[in-house]
Amino acid sequence: AYNFNAGPAALPLEVLQQAQEQFVEFENSGMSLMEMSHRGAIYERVHNETEQLVRELMGVPDGYKVLLVQGGASTQFAMVPMNLLKPDQAAAYVATGSWATKAIKEAKLFGEVAIAASSEADAYKRIPSLDELNVPGNAAYVHLTSNETIEGTQWAEYPDTGDVPLVADMSSDILCRPVDVSRFGLIYAGAQKNLGPSGVTIVVVREDLVGAPSMTVPTMFRYDTHAKSGSLYNTPPSFAIYMANRVLNWVKAQGGAAGVERLNREKANLIYSTIDASGGFYKGFANADSRSIMNVTFRLGSEELEKKFVKDSEAAGFVGLKGHRDVGGLRASIYNAVPLSSVKALVDFMGEFARTNG
Ligand code: PLP
Repeated sequence: AYNFNAGPAALPLEVLQQAQEQFVEFENSGMSLMEMSHRGAIYERVHNETEQLVRELMGVPDGYKVLLVQGGASTQFAMVPMNLLKPDQAAAYVATGSWATKAIKEAKLFGEVAIAASSEADAYKRIPSLDELNVPGNAAYVHLTSNETIEGTQWAEYPDTGDVPLVADMSSDILCRPVDVSRFGLIYAGAQKNLGPSGVTIVVVREDLVGAPSMTVPTMFRYDTHAKSGSLYNTPPSFAIYMANRVLNWVKAQGGAAGVERLNREKANLIYSTIDASGGFYKGFANADSRSIMNVTFRLGSEELEKKFVKDSEAAGFVGLKGHRDVGGLRASIYNAVPLSSVKALVDFMGEFARTNG
């Protein structure tokens, strides 16, 4: 299938094949990795290597912890304020769309939230410009959503927040391009778009932000619990971590973040130029300067026509092109593992569909 699902998303075919080969017996051990103790040498090697690969591929500088935790990015929406917010401080958020809104809602459970900038008035079709940001003096951190999966917008350039730690939800664009980690206090991402199957969440956090929280926080929700134990405080999601390991090795073989970025830009440009050259038949949802290279959102002249596009595309072997119900329209999610050949097939289909229905 040509898989354009938004998440869980396509995985590299060779990773799936390797996992199939290794699933029943891992490296002549007589058993599956999934059956092994997470305190044993074999699993620990896979676990530690996964952390090292995140460090290497993201260029994580010294002074940062890389944590492998559970609960998805949705749990990070709560863990960030629980761990970082102190009394008398405000948590500053940039409201860019559906996922930022969920993060904001969760932060409000734990303290004062300040909206540093918002594109709500523009239906979240754009990322606010850097000079729109208004960070209160008592901000504990500034949170942004690097890529809004549903609206199809992405920060082209991250703001400089000075001494206030910048926190980013990179769930839908982690490792799609090189990022200067030193500009962030904390980065988190659920794995199920660019890193592997669902089940593990990556947190990259500056060590000075890992400490005793000011509020009462359950043990499993404290960053220091996971930092002190090398993400082995309790039983880790070993299958998800093993798969992330294989996907990270695949990213490395593609030339790392810079290598996949070249391909990601080529894929995104193919679809956006098809939209822009369609004479208005396809209309991009996001403003041009805020377009995501991971989720391409677009509309047709009527909902009837959009339904037909989904139906005809499914008949032609395409999966996952229906837009999210909050935004409507169509969405092609083109994460790292979506091959160029699938995107070429999609733009051919789009061209043909415009010719026969225009
Ligand atoms: N943040 C973003 C940008 C997402 O795209 C998603 C999931 O699609 C989430 C957060 C929620 O992630 P999870 O399902 O891992 O909790």
